[in-house]
Amino acid sequence: MPESNQQLETNQDFVPYQLAEGEEYMNDEQLAHFRKLLLQWKQELMEEVDRTVQHLKEEASNFADPADRATQEEEFSLELRTRDRERKLIKKINDTLEKIDEGDYGYCDACGIEIGIRRLEARPTATLCVDCKSLAEIKEKQIGG
Ligand SMILES: [Zn+2]
Repeated sequence: MPESNQQLETNQDFVPYQLAEGEEYMNDEQLAHFRKLLLQWKQELMEEVDRTVQHLKEEASNFADPADRATQEEEFSLELRTRDRERKLIKKINDTLEKIDEGDYGYCDACGIEIGIRRLEARPTATLCVDCKSLAEIKEKQIGG
């Protein structure tokens, strides 16, 4: 799954973190900021999952015309894929929250440098710094192509 699909889309009351000069990276305040972001995102996703499940239930009780079946089944599989994507994302958010609790959050998995506040605000579940991410994408292309 490309990372670009994981950006925060519905985020009206997002307030960027106000970085003080000389502030320590990933201090308690920053961690609290990202924990809040992640929890809020997870909440939104869970509401979406609920809506999808509800919709599927409503549709399933409505198999009146066999001619509509094909269309409905197509719709179903689309919704199930969406739901699957949402569930994977929720799992990733949970893993990220665990990282915050363990004090591992905000550092590149590959090289260990700081990922950076702004990058994390755009992608709170990012586990690689920009450089390692680009490198991984290049490698992926070489293997895939
Ligand atoms: Zn890195």
